Amino acid sequence: MTNEMCTVPQLVIRVDPVPRESPRGYLCRVAHTHRYSGPYSILQIAGVSGDDLERVKGIERISRVLRLEPEEWQAMCYRELAGRKGARPRSFGGEHIKYSDLNYMYPRLCPACLRDQPIWWAVWDLRLVAACPLHRCLLLCQCPNCKRRLLWQRPAVHMCHCGLDFRDLTTEEADRDLLAINTLIYHAAGFPLGDEVEHVLAHYCFPKEMLKLRMSTLLRLVLLLGSIRENGRLSGTHMTVDNRSPAAATEVCRAAVTMLRDWPGPLHETLRNMLPMDTDRPETLTFNTIFGEFYRRLFHDLPRRKVGFLRRVFEDVVMENWKGFIRGSHRRPRYFSAAVMQSSYWVTLSEAARLAHASCRRILDAISQGQIESMLPTKTGNLECWMIKRESLHRWIAIRDIETALYMSNSEIQRTLGLGYKAVKSLAQAGLIRHVKGYNHLFSGGYHFLREDVTKVINIFQKHTVTRRKYTGPGKLMTLRDALNCLGHSVLPDLIQAADDGDLVPVHYAKLSVGIAGYIFPFEKLSRYHRDPKILPGWLINPHPVSAILESERMRRLLHRQEMERTMGPHRRATLKSSQTENSRHESALPAM
Ligand SMILES: [Zn+2]
Ligand SMILES: [Zn+2]
Repeated sequence: MTNEMCTVPQLVIRVDPVPRESPRGYLCRVAHTHRYSGPYSILQIAGVSGDDLERVKGIERISRVLRLEPEEWQAMCYRELAGRKGARPRSFGGEHIKYSDLNYMYPRLCPACLRDQPIWWAVWDLRLVAACPLHRCLLLCQCPNCKRRLLWQRPAVHMCHCGLDFRDLTTEEADRDLLAINTLIYHAAGFPLGDEVEHVLAHYCFPKEMLKLRMSTLLRLVLLLGSIRENGRLSGTHMTVDNRSPAAATEVCRAAVTMLRDWPGPLHETLRNMLPMDTDRPETLTFNTIFGEFYRRLFHDLPRRKVGFLRRVFEDVVMENWKGFIRGSHRRPRYFSAAVMQSSYWVTLSEAARLAHASCRRILDAISQGQIESMLPTKTGNLECWMIKRESLHRWIAIRDIETALYMSNSEIQRTLGLGYKAVKSLAQAGLIRHVKGYNHLFSGGYHFLREDVTKVINIFQKHTVTRRKYTGPGKLMTLRDALNCLGHSVLPDLIQAADDGDLVPVHYAKLSVGIAGYIFPFEKLSRYHRDPKILPGWLINPHPVSAILESERMRRLLHRQEMERTMGPHRRATLKSSQTENSRHESALPAM
């Protein structure tokens, strides 16, 4: 303790504070116990002003006078917390509330509560509390004898300046709506109300989440919902002193009940009615202008996790009725959930391209051809400024998908047939499978093959009933895949034609194979379709000894290379390699059919 503190006098006796007691009411009670005229006498003894009572510099002095530990007074008083000047929050039972949530200018009390126990409860210091749910009556804020507003500076908690004992009074019965909201506030303040809270929630069909709201969130929520006006503006109940009167509290609580009862219907309806009927100019619609102060307070004042039930109603209205753009900062999760973004009326160009699995250029082409409805609200030239109507985009995607379903992509046809690109190319070149290529109204690029023709090719093989068997490598029997590696991919059209004519019949199907590549044929019959017998005469005539020894494809290719060198010499190999490079360059684009 500092020397300065040692000079501060102390009261004769310590008066123990009661849990949930108002700090100002406590001072009033201490003053009455010590026969002072009112709580200001205590402040004079401590040498602090009323403003410093709940500030750091006053806490130590006042707690010494009261014979309390500084922590005791600090926990009880509405201590000013760190924050922006003019908007510093206050501590209320360990929670942060706004200064405007307190009703310093309009003290109030419940005579019946004072009869039970002469304690000024902290909850009466809240501006939205105007009724006592314990006694179902209105709080008293004016002395019926001297007709003056109640003051903090009075002889005792239960006594007016004029000498009237408030405990002798009875007050009006409170209406049910006011009681309902005040019951929730009392519950959040820690008053034991038994089943009354659940009863209120069930009777009014309030959102169940309200039961778990902390005091600060509950006050913000009630104030917000109780202040909504038709145009989205909030009534002026926020900051002015007059609006901390019990009458204003009653008005706000009743209006809040109107919004909260039968949740979420009334609020949904109110928000929907704020939307303009005419939405011809979506670029003029903004959340700020339509939903006004309600929108700003919903996203800035209320914690998202606690009032998810309120945000969901707002999001439902946006999802069902919002015809304006949602972009910029609104696309961040802070504002809207993914569900809202996925159902927005308009999408950006990049999002449209992502949804359609197409390039931005294709979407812009479709826009220019009038196939997709869009808007360019600003003439900046920025592609992201394009806004595309989601409904029309979906329609375009559906039509495109029906057309593209007739085709197979390059990778799909290879998977389906079990063959490589060279084999597919030979089929396309021979006209057995029709195809489209490059950029057109359906595809953004690459080759696409007519599904119907692919099915025909598969059916040629499937009409033969064959058994599956294990296949270890080429021998007297050979799969179609190995046959193409051996004879060259250009023979595939001939093989298919022969299979269609019945000249070439598969005898088995290799296990673990896919498509037509696994059909097994007698090698003798396959070799008839060899087009260039000069290259590998020895190997082709009798592949059996080789395949019996070498099972792996890699080793077979190695042998293939050695055989070529033996028959043609190293010079021929180099020539062949260069010609292969040239071929592959040509193969990069299929010739038109
Ligand atoms: Zn009461
Ligand atoms: Zn009076």
